Amino acid sequence: MTKNRINLYSDTQTRPTPAMREAMAHAEVGDEQRMEDPTVNRLCERAADFLGKEAAVFLPSGTMCNEIALLVHCRPGDEVIAAKQCHILNFEGGAPAALAGVQIAPVETADGTFGAAAVRAHYRPPNRYSPRSRLVSVEQTVNMTGGVVWPLPLLEDVGAAARECGLAMHMDGARLANAAVAAGIAARDFAAPCDSVWLDLTKGLGCPVGAVLAGSRAFIEEAWYWKQRIGGAMRQAGIIAAAGLYALDNHVDRLEEDHDNAQLLADLLREVPGLTVEDETIATNMVFFRVADGRLDAGDLAARLVDEGVVVSVSGPRRLRAVTHLDVDKDGVRAAADALRRIMANL
Ligand SMILES: *Cc1c(COP(=O)(O)O)cnc(C)c1O
Repeated sequence: MTKNRINLYSDTQTRPTPAMREAMAHAEVGDEQRMEDPTVNRLCERAADFLGKEAAVFLPSGTMCNEIALLVHCRPGDEVIAAKQCHILNFEGGAPAALAGVQIAPVETADGTFGAAAVRAHYRPPNRYSPRSRLVSVEQTVNMTGGVVWPLPLLEDVGAAARECGLAMHMDGARLANAAVAAGIAARDFAAPCDSVWLDLTKGLGCPVGAVLAGSRAFIEEAWYWKQRIGGAMRQAGIIAAAGLYALDNHVDRLEEDHDNAQLLADLLREVPGLTVEDETIATNMVFFRVADGRLDAGDLAARLVDEGVVVSVSGPRRLRAVTHLDVDKDGVRAAADALRRIMANL
């Protein structure tokens, strides 16, 4: 990315700040696989506390956190209840089937959230013909429906229904920190109904690599076997863990700015003829918008935006997504909206 680009493609596009790089440069390191990297150990303790769990394990990516959680909770042939929009179903290369050997029972939802009734409706009482229901997976925030936040009471109801059915519960907390800041509810409280939860360090938190998976001590012990088996164990990983510690200290509260910027972007886009913003209220840091003008589709619009130095992602024939993060400030948001207004006015 060139310097003057306004990159709203995703909050994965953040680059480590000079202060974060400084923290990385001075990290104490050791052999992570042997639990001898003091910085990684500190990050795991810190993340376990943030997520309200006994223990945590540092992994290269959020996708690996989801897949290891499935591997620990499930056996081949088991079924996982999850929203049809969820990341594990749509964006992990079929890994639930390929690695854990599980199938997903997709829950039809409007916004990626569902309640206890959906858990009960998709639960299969044990019988020798059906897959064994094993796990409920929830995504906080919901990526594909606009960064929607699951309300805490809904998560608690889903957790209670899961336990009633004898199912474990997992939270894909890629953007759990955004939910916590937006709702004013601690991440650990959102995670309390879940047996496992992870946090991505490379989204809004701004780290270059890494995610942390948390759960009971026994769960993390099992997760370590899978980390080793699938090649996720690392060596002097304190270099990247230092970025995570820095982010937990400095990049959580500031997510509010990203949410304000997303709101500003939505407000500005609502005034652009030919565009419609999907959601009335912007929950966190994502704005989904649609091209309502028949003269161009989402791909055309995204390509023209690149010429104007603005990058967004295409998420359907007429649907685009813009995500705010720490590398885009208010002026950047205004400039992106101006570019969109110019393109639509000059069709
Ligand atoms: C980004 C994302 C993931 C995957 O995380 P990576 O660190 O990119 O592997 C999983 N779930 C959700 C909801 C995400 O947004």
